[in-house]
Amino acid sequence: PYDVLVVGGGPAGAAAAVYAARKGIRTAILAERFGGQVMDTMGIENFISVPYTEGPKLAASLEQHVKQYGVDIITEQRAATVKKGDYVEVDLASGATLKSRSVILATGARWRDLNVPGEVEYRTKGVAYCPHCDGPFFKGKRVAVVGGGNSGIEAAIDLAGIVEHVTVLEFADTLRADEVLQQKARSLPNVDIIMSARTTEVLGDGNKVTGLTYEDRTTGDIKQVELAGIFVQIGLVPNTEFLKGTDVTLTRFGEIEIDAKGTTSMPGVFAAGDATTAPYKQIIISMGSGATAALSAFDYLIRTPAP
Ligand code: FAD
Repeated sequence: PYDVLVVGGGPAGAAAAVYAARKGIRTAILAERFGGQVMDTMGIENFISVPYTEGPKLAASLEQHVKQYGVDIITEQRAATVKKGDYVEVDLASGATLKSRSVILATGARWRDLNVPGEVEYRTKGVAYCPHCDGPFFKGKRVAVVGGGNSGIEAAIDLAGIVEHVTVLEFADTLRADEVLQQKARSLPNVDIIMSARTTEVLGDGNKVTGLTYEDRTTGDIKQVELAGIFVQIGLVPNTEFLKGTDVTLTRFGEIEIDAKGTTSMPGVFAAGDATTAPYKQIIISMGSGATAALSAFDYLIRTPAP
């Protein structure tokens, strides 16, 4: 058995593995795909002390850093469930079981897609998911935000300060965002909000986004908007389906409930990063929470007798 088994090989998992391994304890990292969401990212400009990098480059550095320590790296394997016996047991989809005295869950999240023509083709060429990350790339341009929940309206307010104009498209006939956010967005001269709008296609010139079309759900008319960027804000889904029905408590959004030390409801099990209730889903924040979870796991190990 391991002392620390990290599930997830994104920024949170990599940070947890490095922190655990540096304590000289038996550490393993299990990842379906090393690098996580970072592998889907082009330019990264907010990883402090590194003014510019690219996703695949950062993912390679994460793996290299983990490999400098004697960490067992198990990739292309999927955790299927977690249970607590003498050890914490992680069953894999392949049928194998890994045992460890402590486990750090860092399985991240994924942005919900629009699933319309052009979205995949123009991803990172105008179709974006993270306003904190990609907002500045659209300085002085026209953009759309798809989704009128809290994240969509927050994105619109945020982007309005950077870009020329923001069009918010909401599928329903009302906004779901908090009233205070709605008021703020409506007070901005360069934000338009369109309700009952079903986005139907991302338009582009072969290299980059040039606009989108949507169906006005009240009339059935198809309308076109010209713009340079589309921020999809229709939900961030935690990769925690495999924890449903276990003793690890999830919120109704599927996030793993953790405290300030990364402790979950299952003894010996800690969690970090986008899969958890930790606020603000960012690389630097995930890494910090991965370090916290590893230090908490170490603290647990020195206080808990081995089985
Ligand atoms: P993830 O990166 O999601 O990693 C999760 C890991 O868990 C992966 O290795 C995955 O394979 C693995 N996994 C999942 N389920 C299982 C399972 N059942 N069994 C085994 N392994 C599993 N943030 C910034 O700070 N700056 C940016 O510029 C930026 N740009 C972004 C651009 C895009 C397009 C996207 C999608 C995100 C961007 N982000 C950015 C957000 C940032 O990527 C995330 O906050 C960060 O990657 C979260 O790290 P994580 O380790 O918690 O999860």
